[in-house]
Amino acid sequence: MTENLLRNWEIEHFRTIGRELREAGIEFTRKNIERVLNETSFTTRSKKHPKECPYYQMQEGMLKSCHPKIEADNFSCFLCSCPNYDSSSDQGKCRINSPQGKYFPVNWNSSGKVWDCSDCTNFHSTNQVRSYIESKFKEIKASLQS
Ligand code: SF4
Repeated sequence: MTENLLRNWEIEHFRTIGRELREAGIEFTRKNIERVLNETSFTTRSKKHPKECPYYQMQEGMLKSCHPKIEADNFSCFLCSCPNYDSSSDQGKCRINSPQGKYFPVNWNSSGKVWDCSDCTNFHSTNQVRSYIESKFKEIKASLQS
């Protein structure tokens, strides 16, 4: 069986976020949701963890997120992997078939394409992520601890 790079990336992202929150001394509690959002924002992570994402390494003034339709200062990296993203295959797909997504050609998997969410605005703004965390608090807490 070939390795599913997308799934590995999803799992690793949540582990990384969990580790960063622990290092910042922020416990994942309902009371701390605003602190969690701030610590995992594009703005904070690009300063504190510039090696975690190529987009964090852009020059000041050119800084933009991987979903350019959302302003960088309103962008949350908490759900780097959207809850609607289906990573069960290495090409990925959108569970709700968002018309804002599309397949993009790649040379690193067997299907030669991967589902690309960069034009989609779902689940990446601070307000959307806050609502998602509030509605799925227990499940998210478990993912961060795994
Ligand atoms: S296209 Fe949008 S809704 Fe679908 S998985 Fe990507 S970010 Fe999520």
